[in-house]
Amino acid sequence: MKIDQNMNLTNKNKEKCKRGHKFTKENTRILKNGWRVCKECKKLHDKKFWSKPKNKIKRKKYLKEWRLNNLDKSRNNAIRAYNRVREIIEKAKNKPCIDCNIKYPHYVMDFDHIKGNKLINVGRTRSTLKTLKEIKKCEVVCSNCHRIRTWKNKKRKRISNVSN
Ligand SMILES: [Zn+2]
Ligand SMILES: [Zn+2]
Repeated sequence: MKIDQNMNLTNKNKEKCKRGHKFTKENTRILKNGWRVCKECKKLHDKKFWSKPKNKIKRKKYLKEWRLNNLDKSRNNAIRAYNRVREIIEKAKNKPCIDCNIKYPHYVMDFDHIKGNKLINVGRTRSTLKTLKEIKKCEVVCSNCHRIRTWKNKKRKRISNVSN
């Protein structure tokens, strides 16, 4: 009987959490008292919790303090994040120019925003998700063709301004 109670306390006999996620090895954290926590649910909870305006400020403050106490780690994280984004960008630019069809090294290539709202310049964020999103709105052109595009756009605008 005692064992049974313990089983209940540690929710060991359950295969799934109350939201239906499986208690697999990867998805389970075991607390000191033996209670198992579903990582998937924890993630959902954290996301909801930290997105509240009140907690956003708290989180910012906490992160700032953490950075000050972990200068090396935070510097390494920043470098790693920067490199991840660079890698994505270089990969995306590793193709021939859409206009002249010539293949140049990545540092000659530009992103030309053609779809949707431009939120940021590609490369101005360390977030891989934002980078990928922004790249999706772009065509990859060489810097020469990019200039030609820009000039043509300006010219078109000038003409339409005159006719108005
Ligand atoms: Zn769950
Ligand atoms: Zn080109």
